[in-house]
Amino acid sequence: MAVLLAEREADMQLWTEEGGGPTLDDVLSGAWEGLAAPSAVACPVCGGDLAPRWSAGSGVVGGRCADCGSSLA
Ligand SMILES: [Zn+2]
Repeated sequence: MAVLLAEREADMQLWTEEGGGPTLDDVLSGAWEGLAAPSAVACPVCGGDLAPRWSAGSGVVGGRCADCGSSLA
């Protein structure tokens, strides 16, 4: 019974927006903010260099990782 309670609390922690480590939203938001800046950004997947992709008139529309090929759009 004690094990079940601990597992429920752990599951709830995954969905808690406050406290703990960064959420997926935090990671992706940080990557977007970095792409908008002129500095290099770490890939949220592998930590490699994320190169910004530009669109005429729209500025940065996404990014692509040179290491693992992941794209952010
Ligand atoms: Zn990557």
